[in-house]
Amino acid sequence: MTDRNCPGADNVKIPELEIEKCPECGGEVEFFTREKRSNCTECGHIVTRGQQASCIDWCPMAEECFGKEATKKKVDE
Ligand SMILES: [Zn+2]
Repeated sequence: MTDRNCPGADNVKIPELEIEKCPECGGEVEFFTREKRSNCTECGHIVTRGQQASCIDWCPMAEECFGKEATKKKVDE
């Protein structure tokens, strides 16, 4: 084995830790590269990133976009 690999492959193989802010408590949420969702270390809230998946959480029009069934679970526990 050589100790020199394609740098592009390294980027894919080694995920980097990225910190996002929890929308619930403002705590730190740790994401690895390419991870779309993770739990808040402070409150355990599941945080999603990437607009496609997350807009249902905060968009006031989500009910119309996704339908009442999709938003119902989030609203009433
Ligand atoms: Zn939190």
